[in-house]
Formats: sequence, structure tokens, C-alpha cells
Amino acid sequence: MKIISVDGIVVSNTAFKENSKIINIFTKDMGIIGAVSKGCKKMSSKLRLPSERFAYGTFHLYYNENGLSTLIDGDIKNYFINIKSDILKISYLTYICDLAINVYKESLDNQVYNLMEAAILKIEEGMDAKIITNILELQYLEYLGIDLNLDSCVKCGSTKVVTLSLSKGGYVCQNCRTNEILIDEKVLKMLRLYYYVDISKINELNIDKKISDEIDNIINEYYEEYSGIYMKSKKMLKTLES
Ligand SMILES: [Zn+2]
Repeated sequence: MKIISVDGIVVSNTAFKENSKIINIFTKDMGIIGAVSKGCKKMSSKLRLPSERFAYGTFHLYYNENGLSTLIDGDIKNYFINIKSDILKISYLTYICDLAINVYKESLDNQVYNLMEAAILKIEEGMDAKIITNILELQYLEYLGIDLNLDSCVKCGSTKVVTLSLSKGGYVCQNCRTNEILIDEKVLKMLRLYYYVDISKINELNIDKKISDEIDNIINEYYEEYSGIYMKSKKMLKTLES
């Protein structure tokens, strides 16, 4: 067995034997790694904090390519103190990790981790969790193979778009529009910004609540209809939000 160090976040853990846990680490470069964390339930164990759910940092492992690895040590990079002080933010963190795992399993693309990490760090910095989550959801569509065309009319390519058609898969112009209801131009423009913004570079979110709520509805509807993903954590989040 070789020793490796990986950056990642513990997305789930289960009890194992008397004092141990099996943890699943979503890693930056190596997908999801399962590892035994021996004795981590003891208060004195140095593995206690790195084995907790949402532990985020660098993990040192005896790596087993064909089965469970073994956690040797972990350096926590950020304790997410801000997120963990707020039940709603914890729900967003839970949902984001669940979503990222689902999207990663579909695409096996390491960029899925990077987007998730950027979104979590922005929420920890105090940015609006709902808006950051919507941005992430929109940017994940590409990795789910259900990308929306937000550049021009999805049917004819015209840039004079009047609304968004979820069934057609993007913006549509007046000529190609059939029975879709019109969507405010500001919402259409903002949706495109959500889609292209570099999450790690967001410093400020000044978005009218009416616009962000409408975008939230559009994204929720699209996920429900087309993603094929159903998550308990999303349902939980909706209950808490309402
Ligand atoms: Zn058109």
C-alpha cells in the first residue's frame, strides 16, 4: 500500500466496529475514496475531527486502489464555523454535497469538485446560500448532460430572445416561441450571468429578491423535470425555506 495525501471533504461516514468509522471523502483529483478511520470516536484521537462529516482539508491515507483505504491523519483547512452556526446553511451544505456526488457520478469530471468547493467557501464567507446554490445548480447542468442554451435562440440562433423554454432547452426568440410564457428580460440576463460567473471570484451579490426567487423557481422546475435526480436533502431544504 502506498501513502497518499489528498484534498477533499468528508461527504458521509458510518460507524464501524466499536470506536471507528468508515468515511467517504470526495477528493479534488481522485473521485470518492472510502477509508477506515481507526479509533476516531475516542476523544483523544487525532482522527476525530478529520473523520466528521464535512471535514474539509488534506487527508493522508494508506491508499488501497481496490478497496477501503486507511486514514493516517488529516489537516483541517476550514471548519465552516459560520455555516455550522446556522441550521439553514447546514442544510445547504448537505444538499450541495449530495448534489455534487450525484453530478460527479454522472460525469466523472474533477471540475464538479472544484465548483462545489468554490460554492461552499462562498457560503462560509457569508454570501447568500440560496443564490450561490442556484448558480452551482445551473453550472452543473453541463455535467448532467442537460445544458441550457443561454447564448441565443436554441432553435434558430437569433440573439433577439424573448423568453426561456425548458422543454426546448434554452432561450427562444419571438418567432420560435410557441406557448411559453414570457419571462422578464432582467431575469433572462441574470440567468446568463449565473451561468457564466466564476463562483470563486464573486465578491458581492446585489440581486433583487424578486429576480433571484424567479430564477430559483426556474432552476427547481428544470431539475425536477429533466435531471432525474431526487434528493431528500433538497426536500428538507425546501421545507426549511418555507
Ligand atoms: Zn428563434
